[in-house]
Amino acid sequence: MTSEISVRPFGGPCRAGVLTPGSKSLTNRAMVLAALKPRITTLTGVLLSRDTEIMADCLVKLGYSVNVNAEEKSIKIVGRYGGIPNDYAELNVGNAGTAARFIVALAALRMGGEYVFDSDEAMYRRPMAGLLSALKEQGAEFEFLGAENHFPFRMKTWGLKGGEIKVDAGESSQMLSALLMVAPFADEKSKVALSGETVSRPFVDMTLGIMKDFGFSAEPDGNAYDVAHYDAAARRGDALEKPAQYAIEPDATAASYFAMLPALAGGVCELENFAGCKLQGDVAFVSTLEGIGLVKTERVENNLLVFAADNPVFPEKLELDFNDISDTFLTLAAASALLPFKTTITGIAHTRRQETDRIAAMAAELKKVCAEVSETEDSISITPYTRDELAKKIRGEVSISTYEDHRIAMSFAVLGCADLRGDGSPWIKIENPHCTSKTWKEFFEVLGCAKSSSERMRIVGVDGGAAVGKSSVSKECSRILDYMHVDTGSHYRTLTYGLLEGGISDVDTEAVEKHLGGLKIGTELVGNTARMTVCGALVDDAEIRTERINSKVAQVAAMPAVRAFLKSYQRSMADFAKEKGFAGLIMEGRDIGSVIFPNADVLIFLDADEETRAARRAKEGISDSIKKRDEIDKNRKTAPLVMAERAVRIDTSHMTKGEVVAKTVSLIVESK
Ligand code: C5P
Repeated sequence: MTSEISVRPFGGPCRAGVLTPGSKSLTNRAMVLAALKPRITTLTGVLLSRDTEIMADCLVKLGYSVNVNAEEKSIKIVGRYGGIPNDYAELNVGNAGTAARFIVALAALRMGGEYVFDSDEAMYRRPMAGLLSALKEQGAEFEFLGAENHFPFRMKTWGLKGGEIKVDAGESSQMLSALLMVAPFADEKSKVALSGETVSRPFVDMTLGIMKDFGFSAEPDGNAYDVAHYDAAARRGDALEKPAQYAIEPDATAASYFAMLPALAGGVCELENFAGCKLQGDVAFVSTLEGIGLVKTERVENNLLVFAADNPVFPEKLELDFNDISDTFLTLAAASALLPFKTTITGIAHTRRQETDRIAAMAAELKKVCAEVSETEDSISITPYTRDELAKKIRGEVSISTYEDHRIAMSFAVLGCADLRGDGSPWIKIENPHCTSKTWKEFFEVLGCAKSSSERMRIVGVDGGAAVGKSSVSKECSRILDYMHVDTGSHYRTLTYGLLEGGISDVDTEAVEKHLGGLKIGTELVGNTARMTVCGALVDDAEIRTERINSKVAQVAAMPAVRAFLKSYQRSMADFAKEKGFAGLIMEGRDIGSVIFPNADVLIFLDADEETRAARRAKEGISDSIKKRDEIDKNRKTAPLVMAERAVRIDTSHMTKGEVVAKTVSLIVESK
């Protein structure tokens, strides 16, 4: 039965935070290493998907105690110091490349074992010869039940001899990784030697990195790796190590889809916990996008904000070698349909032998939405239509076949998030979307959440004393997020200006009330900023920021009549923002969190030490009695300057403007 899902484009710029599931490659490596350790290991932040379930299932069949906690996303494994508990098992590796290579190598450690391996049919065609030949040389015996050197087969095992273990990993680096992980438990110290080149070296580096985290060591020596011998026998009994936890990094390949999103839908996406990733080669995808000029990034603590680039300048055509980050080539390839240049991706020949022939599959699907697509053995070239041409060409929705390949589904889903026709109508349909469960069961849900959180009207209050940087930060955040910006300080300044011009003093309450009664206030949009008009006119910004106004505004703002007059107007700005099609409102002032919008989605309180604030004002060339104004603002009876209980305080004294903006944007996109 086929099913399909229509991708609804983002109605506006992306404003979402996403935590990708644990890395598949690391989860599956960590399971094998945990099984090999002389201790109980709890893996946290793991990926639970078909591929990792297959790995866990195979370990259970081999006799290991594996405890999966789906809610906590953890897996507890009792390690057996290189021993394989069961001497017989029937194992099915599905279409999981890591399980296929790692479990076969792991089982080969058993002295006198017999294992029957089967897989999905697609796996029957995937390369195994390099690994199986190496294991044969090391003592394992094979009886092939189908084609030679492929699944299904029966393997008799006699442990690994060690010494020089030669492997041809030219077709998949997983074969080398598999041997590196089990080599510490060979009878003798081993050297794993490559008889040729290997694809995807970053995955080998990932294996070396995680082995190190688990206390194993394999040092590169030319085209070989010296693996430290782990003397299991000597470690039995009293050498047991204490139980330990190991945190799996979020999946960098999965993050590629959400890193691509701002380039197609605009706005910003926050990749949670991404900045701390150190083991995965695919983190380089984001810097590749940055290098092309498609996105900009900013780190906020452990998270990475990925912004759509402003006015990018692109080359006419682009050629990139994706050999090191080949799992992400599909993300860029699918997006190329909407990028304003010809894209050629090279170095990806080995992806023809992955879940499907990925180059051929991508070419076939891209032809449905691109002017020209061509392929060579190791590359794909995509010439897009212009956006207008494409919008005219496509009637209704284009159906994308997914070839049981999760990455094809996810890549085209992200393409479909672009609002091609500008009316929010879907134009991409993904066939068999369930195939994403190979690595990310909830992918479409997460994408849907990112979309709805981007489209929900949100209110952000930014309070703080004078000269803490509220205006510049609020303006920049509104620009990035395409929110409407309101500076309530300018409202008080405008009223102060009117009163002074009319010769009315702030101590003459009656005259002030009368003056206010005769005022007709309205709103005019200047860029993203909603400015208050008085009797249809906009008071020039320079006029309300003079020394004269600075010295009087706090007294005027302390008057209950003035505050009452502005309160309902300021609250009405939320409807105004909605009416004008903004997805949110950022309002700055002194009482936004305490009086105007105490229920705002996000409340921020900016602060800075006195010196910094005075220096900032001096830089602007403005004479301002900041301290005096703050005193009056804090001590007045009506709506004094306070930090709302829910507000997040940001001390900007030692931060650059960019850092404060990034932190604020991060708080906004994370508030769901
Ligand atoms: O933000 P800005 O410094 O332009 O504000 C000028 C003055 O307006 C503040 O010193 C304060 O007295 C008043 N104000 C207020 N409540 C707000 C915003 C500004 O009382 N929400």
